[in-house]
Amino acid sequence: MTEPDLTAGSEVDSYCLKCKDMTNHMVIAMADGVIAKAQCNVCGGRHKYRAAKPSKSKAKSTASRAAAGVTLKEKKATAAFEALLKGRDGSESKPYAMTSIFNKNEIINHPTFGLGVVTSIIPANKIEVTFKDGVRILICVLPVSETPEPAKSRKKKIRKVVKEAAA
Ligand SMILES: [Zn+2]
Repeated sequence: MTEPDLTAGSEVDSYCLKCKDMTNHMVIAMADGVIAKAQCNVCGGRHKYRAAKPSKSKAKSTASRAAAGVTLKEKKATAAFEALLKGRDGSESKPYAMTSIFNKNEIINHPTFGLGVVTSIIPANKIEVTFKDGVRILICVLPVSETPEPAKSRKKKIRKVVKEAAA
């Protein structure tokens, strides 16, 4: 991109941080053939010449900051999430809905948080779900008709013991 012969006093479009917009500017100083300083014709502010809105670079820096700023907690959550999903694929996931019944270890698909694994059932109407970026408590209808797994196996054991005793 070659600039037309610009000199101090030329008019250019530059992004103005004060106006938060692309505005007409007057070149104040040139350095090595590039605009070193420009004055906004709208607010009169003098600043560095910006050929475009800095949104792109800002977004990039936000993304890299987010990538660099992954907390230990999030990393731990991701590891836990991946361990829970190991050997399973998301195709067996159940879309999350407050009215749905979920069981422990079930994979759910949340419209906002994505895939998650039910890691705990919290009476009376909550489930603890491990998502890639952390654990969240979600509202849901608990499986009232079904006995939770540990109780079920305990019951079976008791029944077996009773049977043995009867025999
Ligand atoms: Zn301005």
